[in-house]
Amino acid sequence: MVQIANNKSFQGISPEDLMEATYQASGNFQIRAFFEAKDEILKVGKFTEVEFYEILDAMIDAETERKLVLEKLMGKNPLFLDEIVKEIKDFPAENVIRDVIYLKEQGYVQEHVEIKTKTIVKKIKGEEKEVEVKEYFYRYQLKDLPTERYFEPVSIVFEAGVCCQCGFCSSVCPVNAIEVTADTLEVDTDICMKCGLCFSVCPRSFLIDQANESIKKLDKSLKWSDKTGAYINAYSASTTKDDIKKVRQDGGIVTSILEYLLENNLVDAIVAVQHSKELWRPEPVIVENVKDLYKTGGTKYANSPSLTIIDQCKKYENIAFVGVPCMMKALEKGSMFPSGLPFFKNIKYKIGLFCMEAFPYDNIINLAREQFNKGINDLTKMNIGGGKFIINLKSGEQMNVPLKEVQKYARNNCHFCEDLTSDYADISVGSIGSQDGWSSVITRSEDADKLYNDVVKAGLIESKSLKDVKPGQFLVEKIGGIKRKKCKKIEL
Ligand SMILES: Cc1cc2nc3c(=O)[nH]c(=O)nc-3n(C[C@H](O)[C@H](O)[C@H](O)COP(=O)(O)OP(=O)(O)OC[C@H]3O[C@@H](n4cnc5c(N)ncnc54)[C@H](O)[C@@H]3O)c2cc1C
Repeated sequence: MVQIANNKSFQGISPEDLMEATYQASGNFQIRAFFEAKDEILKVGKFTEVEFYEILDAMIDAETERKLVLEKLMGKNPLFLDEIVKEIKDFPAENVIRDVIYLKEQGYVQEHVEIKTKTIVKKIKGEEKEVEVKEYFYRYQLKDLPTERYFEPVSIVFEAGVCCQCGFCSSVCPVNAIEVTADTLEVDTDICMKCGLCFSVCPRSFLIDQANESIKKLDKSLKWSDKTGAYINAYSASTTKDDIKKVRQDGGIVTSILEYLLENNLVDAIVAVQHSKELWRPEPVIVENVKDLYKTGGTKYANSPSLTIIDQCKKYENIAFVGVPCMMKALEKGSMFPSGLPFFKNIKYKIGLFCMEAFPYDNIINLAREQFNKGINDLTKMNIGGGKFIINLKSGEQMNVPLKEVQKYARNNCHFCEDLTSDYADISVGSIGSQDGWSSVITRSEDADKLYNDVVKAGLIESKSLKDVKPGQFLVEKIGGIKRKKCKKIEL
């Protein structure tokens, strides 16, 4: 790893020279743009000088690694990822995998795909049948040596109609050039210095799923599902606390875990979502106590650009973040393509929600009016379950329509997401698979599984294995597979 001692020099080489060397070697405009904008960045005040050099260090570090990967691939026939990993011992296997996939996405490495068909025996409606399945084998080869390139700002993602409005780009932008709302994204081109940080962390700019799968498969403690990602265990759970039962959506598991984190000082704050002044219009909030946490309980089906406020969490040592799958992917991408962002390292727990799709706020109003003849303020709860969109009313009445009737109100850009179960979260929570008043929970690391079981031991939730309930894991897998299959291809 390249260390810039005291953030000023590396083995007597100034950051300028080091940057120039990396730039010359790789044609990385990103590093140059970032470095040359130092004065502007410090003037904006989002990052201190020390933090500025931390980010620069991380960028140079990553670029140096990539250059080494390219050198090792030079003159070689196509290689499998594990062969490349064996070849490059200079840094961890997950870095090598991450770099190869990144270089492929940038057009420097060619991917060769071989498809083989094999026959397996599968139980279909109780009967064992032979079915043919396809297996994919990926090999990689150097394609082009880097030429001078620069990243477009994320406005190209928005203009292509695939932006999920998570808001991470606006938080990472060092010069505050990006503004994201639940429906819009604007880049101020007079201020933007094309450092490309926004593009690097954007969950819709280039894909990380292949790298993630290969990295997760290195960890033998994890189980792997093609439809719902890597996991340790899957549970069905419900809160034991009456106060949480009053505000929860399903099992109240998200609020219970967050309460445990706050009460045991495992986090100083939580980024969650509450109703804004307009009922059902979600507003991302930072909460520091249980009283405020309870105001965030329950699902608001309109999308919330929650990552727009993550930069405001810099002052906290440890935080938890709750969000939908695209936000979990943005955070994962930020950690896979290290940018050394100071407000990123303190995210200790990522609680991801299952999500088939979200709705623009205005469409929720239309949905209530057109499908139920109700005003938005009449609704006390919205829910999706058993193939129906269900509303509860202030009068105590419950109404529903088939889910297919409400598809037309969903956000179009959600159709570019293949992730139902927040594959990139530490703990994922949703209703699919469990009974009413219960949630399905997927733990995705040993630490996350321990946290979940600590919350159970503390008596905050009761828990069963998801295998022991109906419809259980089978349905989660089935719907997860449907979302993967329906996902549209992103073309920028
Ligand atoms: C847009 C959306 C679509 C969903 N679609 C599905 C689905 O198709 N299938 C399924 O099984 N589950 C879906 N869920 C998840 C489900 O509705 C519950 O959130 C989940 O089961 C957790 O329930 P709980 O009782 O444990 O959560 P609670 O304890 O009630 O806590 C809910 C948490 O969700 C957060 N939240 C609420 N609204 C939003 C929002 N708009 N964006 C980000 N965070 C929010 C709150 O901050 C709170 O922390 C969806 C959630 C959202 C937000």
